[in-house]
Amino acid sequence: MHPEGHPHACENCATPLQGEYCHHCGQHVHNPVRSFGHAVEEVFESFWHLDGRIFRTLRRLLAPGRLAQDYLAGRRVPYVQPMRLFVVLCVLTFFVGRLVVHFGSDAVDVRAGGRPIAQARTVEEVERLRGGQVASLRQARAALPAPLE
Ligand SMILES: [Zn+2]
Repeated sequence: MHPEGHPHACENCATPLQGEYCHHCGQHVHNPVRSFGHAVEEVFESFWHLDGRIFRTLRRLLAPGRLAQDYLAGRRVPYVQPMRLFVVLCVLTFFVGRLVVHFGSDAVDVRAGGRPIAQARTVEEVERLRGGQVASLRQARAALPAPLE
């Protein structure tokens, strides 16, 4: 093993390594099979290591097809890798959506006689307001036409 944790020979074809990639088969020296902790660390690292490429990539996306043309022409280093871009944009979308989209308050506004039941001060008052609500619901149900058989 190398002092930085990289092997001296390719783990795929056993060719002695001269850099980050095997010059014989092309496999990267980085071994993706690690611990769960390492996988979590890589997810966070992918966010910290976005640098200026994310802005360059997003700017290029404004002109439809340009990023794809560059990518297919082999100009890939200036841009974020497609899957990483996808994950980053998904996470950003969820954060922005959480801040922007609201589905109303969680509190249920139960009113009895035009008055919010939450303003009742005693148990008897709550029971009286609830009783009034139940009575009006029964009246409404009795006024409905009979269901068809
Ligand atoms: Zn190899």
